[in-house]
Amino acid sequence: MSLKIKRLDATLVEIESSSVDAFDQSLRGVLLQETDPEYNEARKIWNGMIDKRPALIVQCSGNADVITAVRFAKDHRLLISVKGGGHNIAGSAVCDGGLMIDLSQMRGVLVDPEERIAHVQPGALLGDVDHETQAFGLAVPTGINSTTGIAGLALGGGYGWLSRAYGHTVDNLISADMVTADGEFLHVSADQNAELFWAIRGGSGNFGIVTRFNFQLHPVGPTILSGPVIYPLEDAGEVLRQYRKIARDLPDEASCWFVIRKAPPFPFLDPKDHGRAVIVLVTAYIGDLQQGEKVLAPLRELGTPLGVGIGPTPYAGWQAAFDPLLVAGARNYWKSSDFIDISDETIDVLLAAGNSLPSDECEIFVAQLGGSAGRVAADSMAFPHRQTRFTMNIHGRWQTDDMDDSCVSWVRDVYQKAEEHSTGAVYVNFVPENGEDRKIGPYGANLDRLRQIKTKFDPDNLFQSNINIEPLKG
Ligand SMILES: Cc1cc2nc3c(=O)[nH]c(=O)nc-3n(C[C@H](O)[C@H](O)[C@H](O)COP(=O)(O)OP(=O)(O)OC[C@H]3O[C@@H](n4cnc5c(N)ncnc54)[C@H](O)[C@@H]3O)c2cc1C
Repeated sequence: MSLKIKRLDATLVEIESSSVDAFDQSLRGVLLQETDPEYNEARKIWNGMIDKRPALIVQCSGNADVITAVRFAKDHRLLISVKGGGHNIAGSAVCDGGLMIDLSQMRGVLVDPEERIAHVQPGALLGDVDHETQAFGLAVPTGINSTTGIAGLALGGGYGWLSRAYGHTVDNLISADMVTADGEFLHVSADQNAELFWAIRGGSGNFGIVTRFNFQLHPVGPTILSGPVIYPLEDAGEVLRQYRKIARDLPDEASCWFVIRKAPPFPFLDPKDHGRAVIVLVTAYIGDLQQGEKVLAPLRELGTPLGVGIGPTPYAGWQAAFDPLLVAGARNYWKSSDFIDISDETIDVLLAAGNSLPSDECEIFVAQLGGSAGRVAADSMAFPHRQTRFTMNIHGRWQTDDMDDSCVSWVRDVYQKAEEHSTGAVYVNFVPENGEDRKIGPYGANLDRLRQIKTKFDPDNLFQSNINIEPLKG
């Protein structure tokens, strides 16, 4: 029996079962087809809205399998997708009818404490990285949810609680190993294959499959000062007007993000306030705890808080603090925009959005960036958005498909109203679909150079299940 599988040009090709068997036998990992009992679990990703069915899933066990899979795809001109942690909101880790190259079994993290470098495989989750690095009191800046994959996050930019102190994840990538579209295995760094090294630091998964990331580590914690301050939504206008002034002057060690949502059942909140619409200021200070108390104090005094949860916290624990609110399997539709300041008009949009939350889990999450991450030249690597001081993420999140229309419409409506006050830029890892119409977009002024590099290394656009950088034609 032959296998029907989708090609890059969207036509179907029949591959003889002897070829599929030979591919299977050349792997140390596992090759799955629709008839295998593990297939359905293997095609699931974080966003429960995504329901795609690859013809084949290869669960790679190491670099050799990745090279074999890319060469098999190239020889048959197959549509492929690449899965790291499977968190991408657009669902680009899975493809319909093609070959899914699943790296999630490759979760190794090796720390060299003397050199302060972490060698990380592409299936590792942020929690894996923090677990290994924190054993040495070290960390690399990543994101704020421990079940996110390091691979997709790092290739798009990667920001979190350490970004203002130590830059984004891309700023801490020293070198990497990767498999390019022609199945070649390359080491990339500032000295070797430098243009690919430039491109993968923000160009997302467009240039090849990274099989190892080598990150610079920094001393962090293991205890940091962090936690939320919660105010009623009724006070959010005044809170935000004061917040934006304080945020402007915070030192690099401090970050304060804010979230507008219905209050989760935090233990430090009166149960009568659980489920009430609130604004949560979420703080972290990476440094001396007493100094942190002083720096963060004004954020507790912007009105009468409903509750304050700031205190000394293990860094790795803080990295997982939002996990219970972000469990896999829910339905999600997110949209995002970048800002330099929070204008009065933006505050009005945020307040109206907070007063019309369509589900208990929908929220608007605004990250404070800048600091060290804002002082890197915009053309020093593919990630361009160095002027961004705040990234707004409108998290549409709900459980059942009967709420799809109301939640998606809410997200789009808030996005449209806020977009005119934004910079027009967007972080590539928060783009929910290809083809968005933006003033600046995810790749900004670096797009032309990225297209040239794409044309050189992937002229047939093998790596296209992503926020795609199309190769130049002719
Ligand atoms: C709950 C949640 C919280 C998040 N929080 C943050 C945050 O705090 N900060 C932040 O910066 N981002 C955050 N993100 C966004 C996150 O960076 C992206 O979703 C990212 O794509 C996740 O990477 P992944 O490996 O899990 O994704 P996947 O879905 O597995 O992969 C995404 C894409 O990356 C590419 N890719 C994956 N692995 C490789 C590889 N080894 N080589 C080449 N290409 C590859 C592929 O194109 C793939 O389609 C969050 C996302 C979610 C869902």
